Amino acid sequence: MAVMNRCYDLHTHSTASDGTLTPAELVRHAADCGVDVLAITDHDSVEGIAEAQQAGRAFGVEVVAGIELSITWMGQVIHVVGLSIDPAAPELLAGLDRLCEFRAWRAEEMGRRLAQAGYAGCFEGAKALSNGRLISRTHFARHLVQRGAASDVRDVFKRFLVRGKPGHVPGRWAEPAEGLGWLRGAGGRPVLAHPARYNLTRSKLRRLVAELMEAGCEGIEVVSGSHSRDECLTIGRLAHETGLLASSGSDYHGPENPWVELGKCPPLPAGLTPVWHDWSPRAEWPGPLVSARS
Ligand code: AMP
Ligand code: MN
Ligand code: MN
Ligand code: MN
Repeated sequence: MAVMNRCYDLHTHSTASDGTLTPAELVRHAADCGVDVLAITDHDSVEGIAEAQQAGRAFGVEVVAGIELSITWMGQVIHVVGLSIDPAAPELLAGLDRLCEFRAWRAEEMGRRLAQAGYAGCFEGAKALSNGRLISRTHFARHLVQRGAASDVRDVFKRFLVRGKPGHVPGRWAEPAEGLGWLRGAGGRPVLAHPARYNLTRSKLRRLVAELMEAGCEGIEVVSGSHSRDECLTIGRLAHETGLLASSGSDYHGPENPWVELGKCPPLPAGLTPVWHDWSPRAEWPGPLVSARS
């Protein structure tokens, strides 16, 4: 069946958070890259979804309404992607408002701390790069690169933005049960994002997965633009053992990172059930894909 061979990319960012393409540009680029089904999953924001879905109709891409939610677990930041959410769900929107209030305060606090470290004007610089939308650490990183304080974005994170560095402000994001509750309340399917990126021991990762499953997590990103081949296989085994559905997403942020492209991730390892196994395209556009589950 042709449907079996469709190209899925279920983790991408636009200017609604820290991506550099507008939602419409992102979808147009997805079409050029041969993506059939694209999830737009901006950090803690649903603001790009309507524009992306409209562009999906114009460019022939099925756009899944998604989000990448910031969660605090044992003092650490964890990302959970919600797929096929209702972007108007009131409880989700109220939760996002709270996270974005924290984000706005954090951005000012980062500005104050970086100023103390000798880099004045970072808040203003990051804000200017944020398109009037939420301010991410990525915007600070791009600003610091632009003013010559570091050679590239990764360098900024290492020297300024991670724990123990001058611009670091600890996160106060959603609790796991709370955040997954918002996603599920919005009809979404929660998927643990890029699990190999948290530097967790095997047993701690299993504990995280168990806790998230308890809270209704249904899937895990086995294939991610930020996973090595080996990491895909390791996480694939974890998916198999836990019964989580397998997802795949590039975590695309824009053409500035040419090593991550839309729809070019390797296929899922054999023997896993994809998160899209029971999705059927809607007869009529637009809208999130409908789950065939009862
Ligand atoms: P925030 O949600 O504002 O704390 O920002 C998190 C974002 O920063 C992630 O989604 C990545 O896009 C980016 N990021 C985090 N760590 C790094 C890193 N080491 N190098 C480059 N980008 C990073
Ligand atoms: Mn990001
Ligand atoms: Mn992430
Ligand atoms: Mn992401």
